[in-house]
Amino acid sequence: MKVGFVYDPIYLKHDTGSHVENFRRLEAITSHLEQTGLTQQLTPIKPRPATIDELSLVHHKQYISSIQEAAQRGGGWLDMDTVMSADSYDVALYAAGGAIKATEAVMNGEINSAFALVRPPGHHATPQRAMGFCLFNNVAIAAKYALAECERIIIIDFDVHHGNGTQEAFYDNPQVLYISTHQYPHYPGTGSTGETGSGTAKGTTVNIPLPGGCGDAEYQQVFEQIVVPATRRFKPQLILVSAGYDPHWADKLALMQVSVTGFARMVEVIKGLAGELCGGRLVLSLEGGYDITALAASVRATFDVLLGKADIEDPIGQTQQKWTAPDLASLIKEIKEIHNLI
Ligand SMILES: [Zn+2]
Repeated sequence: MKVGFVYDPIYLKHDTGSHVENFRRLEAITSHLEQTGLTQQLTPIKPRPATIDELSLVHHKQYISSIQEAAQRGGGWLDMDTVMSADSYDVALYAAGGAIKATEAVMNGEINSAFALVRPPGHHATPQRAMGFCLFNNVAIAAKYALAECERIIIIDFDVHHGNGTQEAFYDNPQVLYISTHQYPHYPGTGSTGETGSGTAKGTTVNIPLPGGCGDAEYQQVFEQIVVPATRRFKPQLILVSAGYDPHWADKLALMQVSVTGFARMVEVIKGLAGELCGGRLVLSLEGGYDITALAASVRATFDVLLGKADIEDPIGQTQQKWTAPDLASLIKEIKEIHNLI
């Protein structure tokens, strides 16, 4: 089982100061992988900058130039949440290019699966707008890139926030099924069950808006009852994952209660689907995750699952908060009805 990872120190140069999305996230991940001896078990993939043509598969040319110009002016705030520095345009090109390289390596069979450890993250970036810490939509660009060689791709997004940018990029594209689990209502406000795609793509956006307080069992339940049957029915030739670890209970950006073990189980299910449906072709790209200890341990557990290890270590454990587990029965029923998954 050959598992690849994309990383380059250039990703540390997107300087966001004291912002919650900062270079320490990737530093924590890479040093944890190093300390636990995992780095040597993985195949390194060197990223390259995405070309303007590749970015244009998702983003408007005018928007791309506006980010380049903002960097030339030294950076600054693009909206209330999103900040960039003089180097951020170049780093963002490498983030999109990193997701592309990971996808390329999996598509041509060099490796079985890959994880792009990149920043800035991407899933909030729309075709014409930066938002939610994201400049270019790495996963969406990688998906469009891969569509040159395949017909059906699934993007599974388990970040705690709805990937509005990814949804928008493929809302009218029947070749890409976008499935998102997210806290709702929450930032960015989109991702209701009724948003299902348009035109010939009706039904190829599957939103699973969850109440705060969902933990491992609730995520497992929606994966088994919605993600698995929706993926099987679509028969993807490639699975991409927007891997955001902010549903972890220690993460301060939302109210979910997922543990490291819970993430490992989700990745296990996704890996199983990739093995069953598309020759194991699976590419993950890092989105959120802001408690750096939980983030590093969760990314390590993800690699352990990809490598096929039986024992997954959870050094942080389960939440100590006494949440009443939300009852998802009626939500699951509603989504199954909307998407005809019964
Ligand atoms: Zn997030």
